[in-house]
Amino acid sequence: MQVSIDQDRCCSSGQCVVTAPEVFEQDDHDGLVRLRLTVLPPARFADVRLASELCPGGAITVAEEAPERDRERTGPAAG
Ligand code: SF4
Repeated sequence: MQVSIDQDRCCSSGQCVVTAPEVFEQDDHDGLVRLRLTVLPPARFADVRLASELCPGGAITVAEEAPERDRERTGPAAG
């Protein structure tokens, strides 16, 4: 899963920070949301989906399919 933010739509409500503080934070100066993580651990998926649903600006986009490089490797180690 990947998450992205459209800061032009962020109204600085802070809802996402309350819902998923490990993933989102607000800038001290302009109040806009920032991502604390670039690759989300599975334990945070539910919180981030909820934050996206609750965001009043519709600023949070969740992509369920991560790029190949971000997928967990489940096969045997090479070498
Ligand atoms: S919930 Fe949405 S509008 Fe509010 S701070 Fe987070 S991204 Fe911005």
